[in-house]
Amino acid sequence: MNKVHAYAAQEAGGKLNPFTYELPALGSEEVDIKIHYCGICHSDLSMIKNEWGMTQYPLVPGHEIVGEVIAVGSEVKNLKPGVLVGLGWNSASCMHCDQCMNGSHHLCSTVEGTIVGRHGGFADQVRGHWSWAIPLPEGIDLKKAGPLLCGGITVFNPIILAGVKATDRVGVIGIGGLGHMALKFLNKWGCEVIAFSSNPDKKEQILAMGATKVINSRNPKELESIAGSLDFILNTTNVSLDWNSYLTALAPQGKFHTVGAVLEPMAIPAFSLIMGEKTVGGSPLGSPALTRTMLEFCVRHDIYPMVEEFPMAEVNAALDHLESGKARYRIVLKV
Ligand code: NAP
Ligand code: ZN
Repeated sequence: MNKVHAYAAQEAGGKLNPFTYELPALGSEEVDIKIHYCGICHSDLSMIKNEWGMTQYPLVPGHEIVGEVIAVGSEVKNLKPGVLVGLGWNSASCMHCDQCMNGSHHLCSTVEGTIVGRHGGFADQVRGHWSWAIPLPEGIDLKKAGPLLCGGITVFNPIILAGVKATDRVGVIGIGGLGHMALKFLNKWGCEVIAFSSNPDKKEQILAMGATKVINSRNPKELESIAGSLDFILNTTNVSLDWNSYLTALAPQGKFHTVGAVLEPMAIPAFSLIMGEKTVGGSPLGSPALTRTMLEFCVRHDIYPMVEEFPMAEVNAALDHLESGKARYRIVLKV
């Protein structure tokens, strides 16, 4: 038996406390990872509070994991102990449905969430299927790589899905953990990037990350100044905003894409889509193969989140820091 030392919430919204659990014998296609760092995503907060109605307690949050393989099952061919890997929101998929067979493992109907019905990365160890333990490219900055495994791939995938071109003008709503990584990706992609933020204090840093302009995300009047100009808008907030103003900011055939888990239904007037042939979409994370591609792109262009490091023992202070909107821009826990 393998004992894992973790931090768990015992009830909705509860503080995290030290928690140990035992892993059963390693499955033939599984790997055990010794965790070095784990990022904190807003989804960890939502899961702790059971905002999506799917949390099981005790909950060990944490799904932006980087660490070292310490054990592999007998059928695992591509990994061995000592290899550095990352594990994100997903940690297993069936490997035989149409989605898995065509490489879209993240769309498998039985894809397993790292913190859904099992324990995640606020711990010294985690287990997953080999396919989701993504080997890290040589030269990657381990201290900053964790958030790429959830936040990073979540904002990288829409750029591919929407076919964003280097010549496009684009916008990112909400410059938090996900949003600031989106700014950096789109800037390196070649786009002109407009940031929509509700916090004027972030303006200088946002411009330094590559945005050409910052617009108040909560002020539809300010949005009028860019009406009809953006080819692509990515929403990373989970709050209700004046979505119609954003649709108006899109150029004809522009695409609005949300990865932010907005809890309330989003009001989308049909005519705002019809007249300019505009589309609205969303997506969860990305495939294991695209995650590898993204990590290589990050190393090539030196794209990393701006991180604040907390010791894992201070996880409650770190969660409060994120919840109060003070994180700049992603918190990483060090084991
Ligand atoms: P975060 O670091 O807390 O950032 C969210 C940002 O939203 C904030 O920094 C803030 O940006 C903006 N915001 C917050 N409250 C606001 C308000 N009342 N009005 C206007 N803007 C507000 O969160 P995150 O980790 O980036 O996650 C963002 C969302 O993505 C969450 O809903 C998370 O669950 C979701 N998510 C989805 C996926 C997926 O697969 N689709 C994956 C990961 C995360 P400004 O200060 O710039 O306004
Ligand atoms: Zn996440």
